Amino acid sequence: MTSFRTLDSLQPRGKRVLVRVDLNVPMENGRVSDATRIDRILPTIREIADKGGRVILLAHFGRPKGGPDEANSLKPVGGVLSEHLGRPVGFAADCIGEFAENSVAAMADGEILLLENTRFHKGEEKNDPAMVSALAKLGDAYVNDAFSCAHRAHASTEGLARKMPAYAGRTMQAELEALDKALGNPSKPVAAIVGGAKVSTKLDLLGNLVRKVDILVIGGGMANTFLAARGVNVGKSLCEHDLVATAREIEEKAKAAGCEIVLPVDAMLAKEFKANTPHRIDGVAHVHDDEMILDVGPRTVAHVEAKLMTAKTLVWNGPFGAFEIAPFDTGTVAVAHKAAALTRSGALVSIAGGGDTVAALNHAGCAADFTYISTAGGAFLEWMEGKALPGVEALRA
Ligand code: AMP
Repeated sequence: MTSFRTLDSLQPRGKRVLVRVDLNVPMENGRVSDATRIDRILPTIREIADKGGRVILLAHFGRPKGGPDEANSLKPVGGVLSEHLGRPVGFAADCIGEFAENSVAAMADGEILLLENTRFHKGEEKNDPAMVSALAKLGDAYVNDAFSCAHRAHASTEGLARKMPAYAGRTMQAELEALDKALGNPSKPVAAIVGGAKVSTKLDLLGNLVRKVDILVIGGGMANTFLAARGVNVGKSLCEHDLVATAREIEEKAKAAGCEIVLPVDAMLAKEFKANTPHRIDGVAHVHDDEMILDVGPRTVAHVEAKLMTAKTLVWNGPFGAFEIAPFDTGTVAVAHKAAALTRSGALVSIAGGGDTVAALNHAGCAADFTYISTAGGAFLEWMEGKALPGVEALRA
């Protein structure tokens, strides 16, 4: 992407390169339970180190309250990073000050050093200029490879990028290129699928998408609010009745922008929210008062699949149903397989992201077939909402 400096224009040999990464990995009983984020940053670290740069890693971990605490130390994560890299990774017990400065001064070309949790200092989240200066002292160049943290204007994400020569790392670059293909500069027609529990958490997202996409498929619990707005009885379903007027406004905005809204026409209905509970399939006009819509039905799946076949680009956030409990994963799994097949055949560019979406596509077993899966929860959503991400803006050349 031309508007960002990438590693292609950094000559790191002999330089101290501050690299902001996302090491905020999930831990269970003191062990890293999912190393996806670690694996994603390996290419950038290897490339800089192999070119003779001194790699100084900056990251936050957890939500420490106002100072150092062992539970939020990055030290154990450094050990796992070293295993995945297959190289030694040094550790400095503070990210600024004398300790960090001495550790950096002792580095040789090609070496890798992880600094302690940036959030152990209050100045990080405040983007305090003193914190930015203290960090900047440690390096000659700055690389940001943490797209998932780019929606926050913190010292190690935005502040440093404004203070020093700044570059996008390879993972950041891949993310920005994929997102540009999805909504920045997409092949049309563009379809979006927005599912998940509630409309209230996705109002900005829907407002932005109706202006940008040609087809907006709404699924999940949030579709119930749209159905209710159209006068459908949704029984006991999850539904934000106080947002019915808002749903109508979104429909009107979509109409004015030439965006077609696709809602479920049938549903999987049950009386209880639990696995393998008795259920039936019926049109959305026939929901009983004591029933809940927990997934879309087969006619909806066929309709959505037909729409996807007319699209060239798909951006997807949120499941079609309560996918964690069988059989209410059926709709999400079926549409995911269709999107994957269309992507494999070259007919569709498919980008998906957001916490539950990644879990749902992994559950469907076809995440690898998508053009790009973003693991950045909040940042991905803010990008889908059309918001400027401070950490990305600061990287623009
Ligand atoms: P979100 O975090 O907003 O993407 O919402 C994801 C959650 O929505 C998942 O935990 C799903 O179980 C839930 N969900 C999706 N469809 C429904 C539905 N029809 N009724 C209740 N929960 C749903």
